[in-house]
Amino acid sequence: MATGMFLKSTPDATDLSAPESGGLSDFRRLHGESELTELTPIPCDVFVRYGQRFQKRYVGDVEPARVASVDRGPSAPGFVVGLDDGRQLTAAAVVVATGLNGLAYIPKELLRLAPEGAGAGALVSHTSHHSDLSRYAGQRIAVIGGGQSALESAALLHEAEAHVQVLVRERSVRWGSVPQPNRPWPQRLAQPASPWGRAGHSPRSAGHQAGCGGSRLLLFHRALGPSGGWWLRDRVEGVVPVRTSCRVTRAEASGSTARLELTGPGGSERLAVDHMLAATGYRLDIDALAFLAPALRRGVVRVPGSKAPRLTSTFETSVPGLYVTGSLAAPMFGPMMRFVAGTEYAAACVARDAARWVVAP
Ligand SMILES: Cc1cc2nc3c(=O)[nH]c(=O)nc-3n(C[C@H](O)[C@H](O)[C@H](O)COP(=O)(O)OP(=O)(O)OC[C@H]3O[C@@H](n4cnc5c(N)ncnc54)[C@H](O)[C@@H]3O)c2cc1C
Repeated sequence: MATGMFLKSTPDATDLSAPESGGLSDFRRLHGESELTELTPIPCDVFVRYGQRFQKRYVGDVEPARVASVDRGPSAPGFVVGLDDGRQLTAAAVVVATGLNGLAYIPKELLRLAPEGAGAGALVSHTSHHSDLSRYAGQRIAVIGGGQSALESAALLHEAEAHVQVLVRERSVRWGSVPQPNRPWPQRLAQPASPWGRAGHSPRSAGHQAGCGGSRLLLFHRALGPSGGWWLRDRVEGVVPVRTSCRVTRAEASGSTARLELTGPGGSERLAVDHMLAATGYRLDIDALAFLAPALRRGVVRVPGSKAPRLTSTFETSVPGLYVTGSLAAPMFGPMMRFVAGTEYAAACVARDAARWVVAP
């Protein structure tokens, strides 16, 4: 997340899973920080600080290393894990919890602008490439997408004095509704508050292992679609130009300029910008995890109609001892897996089941 971004989830929906009180509010109280309410968007750095304190308190031993490879060990079951400093470890079980890393998606018509690879210094980048958007001050930037990443990046770019416009293919931009902490009981009954909001999503629709097969995948695609946080609206609406029903149909590099062809209700038109920021989300594709050996990946059965792994009720793939959690588990367990609020269910299931791989000394 770029500097200056806020979490979209409310404080209640941002607690990491702990066996006792270990929520965001507990840590803030413990460290003398003011209480957060539903009406206080959480700055990214507050969440990072909470995560670090949580790790010190509950996790203990953490090795700061990048995993370069995971392959089957010489005797099955078991794995060999290669680190980028050359060390090799053996493990009876591996839990892949790498989040959205490596899964960024840029449509191929935009990728043509960066044959050498997309990134902050190229004509096109993905929102995940950035930790500071102020580098684009004074430049013409097109942001592609209509979700939180697009809208918040556009606000930050505008505030950094870039000339930004947002190109949204949907007919309109959706915004979250302002929380109402003291709603009357009939309203609370009809639309109960939950970690994923109350904007027409029933707990079941965002819940765990809801439905089966095709209906589960449909739910994954439909529930919790792109929208902007309520607190962001004033920084975008009437401030940053947003074109809806607008698709980029062609993009060409011309020196240091990106020349775009846009198609909208009024026909096509051209636009020249210095940079395109793709806020086009992530693809849940297990093959994008290059650190998993190809043979291992081939052994992972997929959810029909997707490239995400099929998982047991304890998040184990079809390769015994290989678990996958986080976003890649969402097609099986529901959209909640994309959020912090999903960790309580996932962590408990994985920890209970993975304990069977621990060999007694
Ligand atoms: C812009 C943005 C805003 C978001 N806002 C919210 C929000 O408001 N609320 C919410 O609940 N969720 C939000 N999310 C979703 C958020 O990413 C997840 O909820 C949460 O971070 C997922 O946790 P995770 O542990 O699965 O993955 P991450 O938090 O992404 O953690 C993955 C970890 O794996 C490590 N890793 C990756 N590859 C390797 C490797 N090869 N070797 C070693 N380590 C590796 C990474 O360094 C990282 O530490 C947001 C996501 C984005 C992109």
